[in-house]
Amino acid sequence: MSLSIRPLHPLFAAEVTGVDCRHPLDPDTVAAIERAMDEYAVLVFPGQQITDAEQIAFTRHFGELEHYNTPGHIRKREEQRLGPGIADFSNLDKTGALMSTEDRVWFFKLADRLWHSDSSFRPVPAKYSLLSGRVIPSWGGNTEFADMRAAYDALDERTKAEIADLVCEHSLIYSREAIGFSQLTTEEIEAFRPVRQPLVRTHPVTGRKSLFLASHAGGIVGWPVPEARMFLRDLTEHATQREFVYSHQWRPFDLVMWDNRTTMHRARRFDPREIRDARRTTLAGDGPLIAPAGAA
Ligand code: MN
Repeated sequence: MSLSIRPLHPLFAAEVTGVDCRHPLDPDTVAAIERAMDEYAVLVFPGQQITDAEQIAFTRHFGELEHYNTPGHIRKREEQRLGPGIADFSNLDKTGALMSTEDRVWFFKLADRLWHSDSSFRPVPAKYSLLSGRVIPSWGGNTEFADMRAAYDALDERTKAEIADLVCEHSLIYSREAIGFSQLTTEEIEAFRPVRQPLVRTHPVTGRKSLFLASHAGGIVGWPVPEARMFLRDLTEHATQREFVYSHQWRPFDLVMWDNRTTMHRARRFDPREIRDARRTTLAGDGPLIAPAGAA
């Protein structure tokens, strides 16, 4: 089988066929997929009936798994359904039963429906994320992606100059607060302390600039908060206009891989009385984009 790529949108996103993600890839195939990621930023691999271990092994062809000591989620390891290395994006609890929509874990997950880039709230934000759709609800539940390169390119020159050196503060606190979920413990507030990220980033391979936005961004360094939030909201509205968005309608066993450095994404509504089982592996970025606050 040879790898075949079919664009899904005028600007970005493509479907890849002719590759079996269950088995080790040869270096040429890995290189071809990486080139396609640099060009399309979102790749859909249909019909990949993979196990968690196979998903982890496939992911590791493209870098190191994201690994961290601080929690990114309010659910403790002993309450989790899946093993290490793979994150649970289902609406199931550890016993496999449907989660209550009054559960604070559900409230926390709801904020994934705001536009974001994975792990922008960590000092080292994520490179690729890979989401495997195992059980798909009968209605809704699309994942939408926005091309932050095209969004950057479409800005006027005055705005590009204004944002060139701006630094934002990202935290899970801000994205959860945006939907009215602010009942965080002292421990969570400490774990979710804001980190700094540049508002404009440059792709290490293509050299293309992109807007590094997320609903996790709650401030701009040196700006009054209302001024910063209003500007970030304006930029997000600009960047998520329909012309920059690909909406993925899931089929069982789609494996979707995206580059968090050049895209934002959001989950869409579905009926919470139906099962949605999606599992994510995440690749670490190369390093912090700017020196941590307080560093020389
Ligand atoms: Mn996400």
